[in-house]
Amino acid sequence: KFAAMHKYLEGLNEQQMAAVLHMDGPLMIVAGAGSGKTKVLTSRIAHLINSGVDAFNILALTFTNKAAAEMKERVEHALGNTEARNLYIGTFHSVFARILRADANKLGYPNNFTIYDTDDAKSIIKETVKSLNLDDKHYKPAYIYNRISAAKNALVGYAAYKQDMQIQQEDSRSNRPLMGDIYEAYAKKCFKNGAMDFDDLLFNMYVLLTHFPDALAKYQGRFRYILIDEYQDTNVAQYAIMKMLAARNENICVVGDDAQSIYSFRGATVQNILQFQNDYEDAAVIKLEQNYRSTRTILEVANSIIGNNKNQIPKNLWTDKTEGDKILLARTATDNDEGRFVADAIKEQMMRNHYANKDFAVLYRTNAQSRSFEESLRRMNIPYKLVGGTSFYQRKEIKDYLAYLRVVVNSQDEENIKRIINYPTRGIGKTTIERIIVRADELNTTFWEVIANPEIDGLRSSQTNAFVTMIQSFRTMLEKQNAYEVAFAVGKHTGLVKELYDDKSVEGVARYENVQELLNSIKEFTETPDEEGELQDKSLGSYLQQITLLTDADQDKEEDANAVKLMTIHAAKGLEFPCVFAVGLEENLFPSAMSMYDRNDLEEERRLFYVAVTRAKERLWITYANSRYRFGSLVQNEPSRFIKEVPASYIDTTYTGIGNKGPIGGNTRGGGLFGEQSFDKVPSLKKLADKLAAPKPSTHTPTADFAADDTTDLQVGMQVEHQKFGFGKVLTLEGGTQNRIAAIDFGTHGVKKIMLNFAKLRIV
Ligand code: ATP
Ligand code: MG
Repeated sequence: KFAAMHKYLEGLNEQQMAAVLHMDGPLMIVAGAGSGKTKVLTSRIAHLINSGVDAFNILALTFTNKAAAEMKERVEHALGNTEARNLYIGTFHSVFARILRADANKLGYPNNFTIYDTDDAKSIIKETVKSLNLDDKHYKPAYIYNRISAAKNALVGYAAYKQDMQIQQEDSRSNRPLMGDIYEAYAKKCFKNGAMDFDDLLFNMYVLLTHFPDALAKYQGRFRYILIDEYQDTNVAQYAIMKMLAARNENICVVGDDAQSIYSFRGATVQNILQFQNDYEDAAVIKLEQNYRSTRTILEVANSIIGNNKNQIPKNLWTDKTEGDKILLARTATDNDEGRFVADAIKEQMMRNHYANKDFAVLYRTNAQSRSFEESLRRMNIPYKLVGGTSFYQRKEIKDYLAYLRVVVNSQDEENIKRIINYPTRGIGKTTIERIIVRADELNTTFWEVIANPEIDGLRSSQTNAFVTMIQSFRTMLEKQNAYEVAFAVGKHTGLVKELYDDKSVEGVARYENVQELLNSIKEFTETPDEEGELQDKSLGSYLQQITLLTDADQDKEEDANAVKLMTIHAAKGLEFPCVFAVGLEENLFPSAMSMYDRNDLEEERRLFYVAVTRAKERLWITYANSRYRFGSLVQNEPSRFIKEVPASYIDTTYTGIGNKGPIGGNTRGGGLFGEQSFDKVPSLKKLADKLAAPKPSTHTPTADFAADDTTDLQVGMQVEHQKFGFGKVLTLEGGTQNRIAAIDFGTHGVKKIMLNFAKLRIV
């Protein structure tokens, strides 16, 4: 009866309908890919509003800003009015950033705090390591960043970190006993700078809600209905916050798919799904089983791939779509050939089956793989859009410009002051800057105070005075003038734009254009009606917050709309395309080299493959190259083990013989293929996260049919299973072939020395 009344209910199946019409009380939807989870979430929002719930009282959390914008648009469309404008929709990070902008002063931060991106954070860590007189070759910023990030996402602050025995042991085992000190110094520095990194947005939100009952009450009252998409990828901090916000009304609806959990390296835990039913005993649980996205062939392939994972909630996904084409498996000689193959196939499909550019997506494991596809697509004049990779906002000239803007908004921000105080050059040298830093530390004040405060003598000069006066003059504009006006003035009066304009080299011209592009986008920001929420805030502060929170996947421009999309599988989550190329299916690449020795990691790689396959609506290609450049030299690869998991009857192997022309393209590649893949493993934090989320029985139950493997080829780093001690990792090997002894770390059972001749071990 509703279907006749409301557009957003049309065509829903019975389970979807039940989920959409469910009004109050906790609701969880666990369902496979393409079963309409996101559609249900959107329709539910429309239904809530239509049933009289004020849009102001609805909070929807999605994975990317783009997904949020899309959701808002769909709700608007379904309702046929602009009520949806008032929805609070966004990523966890963007929503919390907004809340903290109102309440950060409670935590001792300025409300216009700066948000540091990953690069900013790493460079501060690097400095911190240096200031503690440690070696940054050993205390690598990327490693430390990941570890601190994992700690914050498990809600472990630096004090707790330094007291946790298990963490201490782990840091001394990894020979980084001073990790805790670095964490502390880094956290204090950010605080002093009035800045938060991405993880602080979650961590501080948690602190705000736990320490300030009035704030908690305010947001509990405000968010009477909470909806979360991609629930399987929420981490401990996000879960804890969500639970607090929902505590009063318990109108919480989560949708997710355990088979698509692909962010455990960032602390996300599938345990959330199990935990939900513990936390909300009367939760309604709805399963969706019909897939509306893919052909039967694609769906069957996806089902059989994921069937190889031990850890999963059983699902029975079916479709009434046609069988469709077989999966095309293609082997090429090199990565360059793989690029050519894909470009050729796209061209052919466009001619034969009338697809448009935008109907294709090339999905890879690591960003570095994009190069060969970019080259071949460019050569064939096929427009493409690289989603992710080095983004616009990471370019030097853009970061410089933004640094100025950030300093204008928040002068506590020492990192950004240092970046620009002598750019363009104005005679403030390195030594002066270092002396100012030392002075600030002595006086326990900020960099800015030392140069701006006339009562602090000795370090001010005509040059620093001119800088201070200039920044102050911009600051006076903040209140009355919008982001564009201030940004324009900054570009003009600092000499920044002129400096770039005067550089007539090819790169210089490109930099100048980039800066113009930045100004255009700021202008656009000030002229676009505010989609973000109730505030029509066009200030510079509001602009800065918005761009810092853009995720790579969000930087989609109009002109890129009809282009082939190149992206990592992580970035493709939740999306769908008529034609998908899953590329680089090679051992050590996909699954990644780092995942091979741990069952959980391997299962996560398989889920990633499942995500890739289930993006396809009509046609799917799987490709791999015999050899590719890695770390600057040509490496031979074996086909991925995942290929064997695709049932042969669904595979068209016409192309497995192509491209045997030997390597073409030459030794042009720099950096390693795995350069971007810095997912450092943080076992104890992962464990801690699991513990906080749900106590999971971790005792090893030996199987009756334990068949030992031949251990002749056992090597350090390999993962093994022991009948009694369970899973472990080989630390060292000693002795001759007849009496080899392995030291194996069995986790909770500790490190055991095992005589390989006698022990029954299985290689995992
Ligand atoms: P993923 O797990 O990949 O995020 P999902 O479960 O969120 O997938 P949706 O993206 O919501 O799935 O839906 C997949 C496709 O199926 C979309 O194109 C959607 O419009 C379509 N769809 C969903 N439900 C129905 C339905 N009842 N009738 C017709 N089409 C539907
Ligand atoms: Mg979805």
